[in-house]
This record gives sequence, structure tokens and C-alpha cells, in this order.
Amino acid sequence: MRLEPTLASRIDSDPLLMSDFAAICDCGGRLAGSDGERRAVELVARLGEKASGIAPRREPVRYQGWSVLHAALRLADGTACDCYPLLFSAPAPAGGVSAEVVDLGRGAPEDFDRHKAELPGRIALVRHELMFAAGTIHRSRKYRMAVEAGAAGFLIAGPLAGAVVAGSSGRAEPDGIPALGIAPETAARLASVQGKRATARIELDTAEAPAVAENLVFDLPGKTDEWVVLSAHIDGHEVSESAMDNASGVAAVLAAMRTLAPEICHFRRGLRVIFFNVEEWALTGSAHYVAGLSAAERERISLVVNLDSVAGSPHLTALTSGFAALGPFLQGVAEDNGSSLAIHLPLMQNSDHANFACAGIPAFRLVAGFDDGQADLRHVLTPADTRDKVKADELRQATRLAVAIAEAAANVTQAEALSWRNRV
Ligand SMILES: [Zn+2]
Repeated sequence: MRLEPTLASRIDSDPLLMSDFAAICDCGGRLAGSDGERRAVELVARLGEKASGIAPRREPVRYQGWSVLHAALRLADGTACDCYPLLFSAPAPAGGVSAEVVDLGRGAPEDFDRHKAELPGRIALVRHELMFAAGTIHRSRKYRMAVEAGAAGFLIAGPLAGAVVAGSSGRAEPDGIPALGIAPETAARLASVQGKRATARIELDTAEAPAVAENLVFDLPGKTDEWVVLSAHIDGHEVSESAMDNASGVAAVLAAMRTLAPEICHFRRGLRVIFFNVEEWALTGSAHYVAGLSAAERERISLVVNLDSVAGSPHLTALTSGFAALGPFLQGVAEDNGSSLAIHLPLMQNSDHANFACAGIPAFRLVAGFDDGQADLRHVLTPADTRDKVKADELRQATRLAVAIAEAAANVTQAEALSWRNRV
């Protein structure tokens, strides 16, 4: 289905796409619980209301808040190195963890196996991997393997010279060990010399307390009580302005809402726009939202279009969560609108679409630069996730595709929408 020329030109001439994007970046990294995150929620509520003409429903998300009181990494000679505590990491005992470092290279399961005997009581050192790739081993899995092996601490080295790396530890309470993101140069200084392991001290003091954030929901009804959900997460990491991940997705969703708002009353299905929060903490905001849906409400959601990191490369991929019929539908829409779209079928639990997919709701993530080690997306979670990586034409292209998909999905027959629900 080809996007109507009036809608396409609305997107092409929308001056707010890039100014919204810049305004979201201006809020800073937007770590859940920070002032920047709260400012961003108010900003998106305001921009969304302007785009749609309606006020958002604010849904509270209760989560265990976590903050850092003190963090340091010291080498054996006392030198302090830059570090960034992984979200929700456990604190170190008073005085810190001083131990030898076991370099596990990448930190794949076989690396942990090979070094099993050395790990108890020592610090595990692994490498961060390109997140948007088929064979990625997620940092939280490496953290879990280190905890299970009896390690006393966890270090993960980033991909970017001179820069630390951020991310969530994925820790499940109450166990866990202190975990820090470090620069590749620091990892090099922690290498064994002539078979003798380096030692390091991790100092990490944290505070935890129950906290509340908000998801923002805008319901634009169609002619039936069925919905297409269009979503993006607002929160990020303090290490940068979280521009690609995910100011890009939020700005594109705002522009899509602005473009489609006057049309939706003529569509078969309505458009439910959700700005999720606390995504970076194990997809908490969307988990909370999906858990609150009744079986009937889940059935009324035909498709979830989740935009997460949609600029930083001109190449877009849909991660279709095992829903085999989605690929041909999405590629058909892309082709009709002169863009190309790659499909990656296996479920990837790397953004909010995963919680819907796990509940049986057809859901995919639109992402740029998938499986491309050279794309700017490799800078996500580092200090280089900045606005200069997001080109206006890439963000506009992603917006156009999201609008075309949302419009097509809102108008397919019920039989076609039902066919999406079959999993491989
Ligand atoms: Zn993201």
C-alpha cells in the first residue's frame, strides 16, 4: 500500500521532526529516576498533546530505583581509571573488592567454561558486543555467568577507544556482584603479564529505594475497537545524550502521530501511541504495561510497531519476533513506498516489542544498522551516542516507513491481521 502523497509530503516538510529530536537530546541521558528523564517525560507529553490534540494517559510504573553514591576502579599501583557502573549492579563490600582479574576475552559460555576454576573470588573481564546483531551475547548473560561462577566482580570493556561503556547488569535480586563498564585501554592494562594476573580494586556504593516512573499513552480511535500500537522508549543512559537510542525513535513516533492524527478516525483500527519508560532496566515499563492488559485487550492489539534506534545508518531492519507472516507484510509495505527493509525473524529480547511478543501479540522492532559493525549504531551505550550521528534524511526515512506500516496495518482485513498471530 503506497502512502498517500499528502501524508508523504507532510512528513517531508515537517520541521518539527528534527527540532523535537534536538529537544529530547537537550534533556540529557534520561536515566530513569534522573531529572533529565522527568524533564523528557514532560516534554514528550507536551509535544504528543500538540501532535495529536489529546492529553496522554499517564500510567505509573513502579520499579526498584537505584543510584550510585560512589564508584571507582583502581589498578594495582593505585591509578584510578574511568568507569561507569552497570545499571542495578550490586554494591561492593565496604573498602571495595580487591582481586586478580581473569580476562575472559569475549566472555562467551565457552570462555567461562575454560576459566571456571580461576573465577571464584576473582574479577571477570569481558568485552561489550555490537548489540544489534544476530549472534550477540548480551551483557546481562555474561554478568549472570560471572555471578554463577562465583566471581567477586565484573568488568566489561567498551568498543570505543578512550570511552567507557554503559548498560544494565540485568541483576536479579538479591544476589549479584559489583559491575563496571570500562574503556578498552583500561582492559589492556588489566591483561596478564607473563602468566601473572593483574589485580584491580572495584569500589561501588549504591542506594536502592522504590521509585515510580510514567508511561505515556495516547489513544486515537479508529472505526473498531482494535488497535495498532506505535511505541518508543524515552529513557536512556547518562553516559551520553542517548540520541540514536532512543531520541531518534521518540522523535519519529511524534512525527508519525502528527502525520496520522487527522486520518485515524477513517481507519479500521485506532492508533495507540505509547512512550515507554524504564526500558533500559530490563524492559520494565512495557513489562508493566503488558501485564496490565486483559486477555481481551491483548486480542484487540493487532500489531506493535516499536521504534528503537532508527537512525545512525540508512539500513533498516524489522526484528519480527518469530511472527513469520509479518515479514512479507512489512517488506510489501516498504517496497510499495520505495524503501528496502531487512527482516530478522527470531525473537530478540532487546526492546519493548519483546514483552508484547512473549504475550502472543504480533510485535516487531524497527532498528537501523542491524548486523553492521561499521554503522554509527556501534556507538550506542558509549559517550558517542550523540545527535551528530542522526542524519535528518535517515530519521525522515524511518518516519515515512513507520507511518506507511502503521497506516497499512490499521486498514488490513481482519483475516490478514489474524494471520500475523501465528508463530514459527
Ligand atoms: Zn533502546
